[in-house]
Amino acid sequence: MQHHNKLYIDGNWVESTSDDWLEVINPATESVISRVPAGSSDDVDRAVQAASRAFDAWASTPAAERRALLLRAADLMQAREQELIAAVSASMGCPQHIAGWLQVEGPIEAMRLFADQVGITEETEELGHSLVWREAVGVCGFINPWNYPLHQFVGKVGAALAAGCTMVVKPSEQTPLQDYLMAEIFHEAGLPAGVFNLVPGRGTEVGRALCEHPLVDMMSFTGSTRAGIEIAKACAPTVKRVTQELGGKSPYIVTADCDLTAAVRYGVDDVMINSGQTCTALTRMLVPRSRIGEALDIVRTRVAEIEVGMGESAFMGPVSSRRQWQQVQDYIQIGMDEGATPVCGGLGKPQGLEQGYFARPTVFAGVTNDMRIAREEIFGPVLCIIAYDDLEQAVAIANDTPYGLSSGVFAKDNTAALAIARRIRAGLCFVNGGEFNYQAPFGGFKQSGNGREFSHHGVEEFTEIKSAQLAVHAS
Ligand code: NAD
Repeated sequence: MQHHNKLYIDGNWVESTSDDWLEVINPATESVISRVPAGSSDDVDRAVQAASRAFDAWASTPAAERRALLLRAADLMQAREQELIAAVSASMGCPQHIAGWLQVEGPIEAMRLFADQVGITEETEELGHSLVWREAVGVCGFINPWNYPLHQFVGKVGAALAAGCTMVVKPSEQTPLQDYLMAEIFHEAGLPAGVFNLVPGRGTEVGRALCEHPLVDMMSFTGSTRAGIEIAKACAPTVKRVTQELGGKSPYIVTADCDLTAAVRYGVDDVMINSGQTCTALTRMLVPRSRIGEALDIVRTRVAEIEVGMGESAFMGPVSSRRQWQQVQDYIQIGMDEGATPVCGGLGKPQGLEQGYFARPTVFAGVTNDMRIAREEIFGPVLCIIAYDDLEQAVAIANDTPYGLSSGVFAKDNTAALAIARRIRAGLCFVNGGEFNYQAPFGGFKQSGNGREFSHHGVEEFTEIKSAQLAVHAS
């Protein structure tokens, strides 16, 4: 990676007009490992102008050519997989052996899956005397967070390329490195100049300039609900389409008649993986009151097995920044002040890990759904266990949240679990230990966002629908 002092605009590596820089810090060592330009609004303007110039040609490029380019990009990602893993791991802290399967393999698969969606703009539907088809929405602006930086990149960029859009990407201040690799990959794959542009920078400068730019047709954002609201407001005067993947406080209903060991272990792992920094994390585990004691024994056993660190057997690395570490500590203190019972973990760093932003896997029992630790997104390795008396109450607690991104149900079989899943107001439901699927749509209800990513639903977000009314007497 030789281009970290540049931006990628119009097919070239160029200087930023700003002299401001962003430091990339390895959260496992607390040391600065790289720096990238903090782009300016002038840089955004140059990039958007390039994307706008490239739009017509790219949108009208035959689907087969777009498909070939996406597949070439996926092959190059595969070839550079180790570099992608190293970039993600070093900047956000996921141990390398986990970053491989959790952060990088899926996005490579997703890029290939998007290649199969390119036909979306070549299909025509007949509705009475009208022909209806989809066209690329135009120039897109993308703003991403740091927790799954390649996943979020591909969910937006892969889908938009498949639909025929051009784009400007702003990675998180903390995790720009894999985006630089992706710019190199697209360049090598032969993506036409201007289709993909990379302008790292701050949300308040680069992010805002993208939202306000009159030539940007659509903004797609992943991050906090706070920033999502600001972005939607900034986009309103130019009436952009806005899709948002925001926060969550997802419920996980464990039923009385399920395999409790499997259910609880799955729930603990789901929260602790990626150090709790997963927007879909099932952070509110709802357990029948009659089985709480057993469940807590299973929790203690599993958490005791979890190794924190960066080695080959570590399950959890550090959280991504000093700020995030402090936020986790603050919430653990809040949980104790609110009267929740710490079952394991707690304040401070795990023994022997004084350097790096390592936090302890923490589980609270005796949590009620009105506590702040049950209502607010902690975004760290903190699991809340809430007791319920009957299924009606469990569903009510599950839905008593401003969020609606994800959910989980573990019941005696899929039929029983799906009946509960249908009652939860959330965009995803992990059923009986189900795994993430890149072929399925991803996105939230309520204050967890608007729109969907991945699958053909995710590509449709990047299209406009057009209808042509034919004169009925004409042949
Ligand atoms: P953040 O919202 O502070 O930042 C995300 C991105 O938005 C960054 O690139 C930042 O520069 C930019 N940004 C911030 N303020 C902006 C503004 N006013 N205008 C334009 N851009 C702005 O979030 P974060 O700290 O990076 O990520 C953690 C949060 O993101 C958590 O709340 C988490 O749940 C959420 N998240 C959600 C999903 C999802 O898919 N739903 C995925 C990952 C993270």
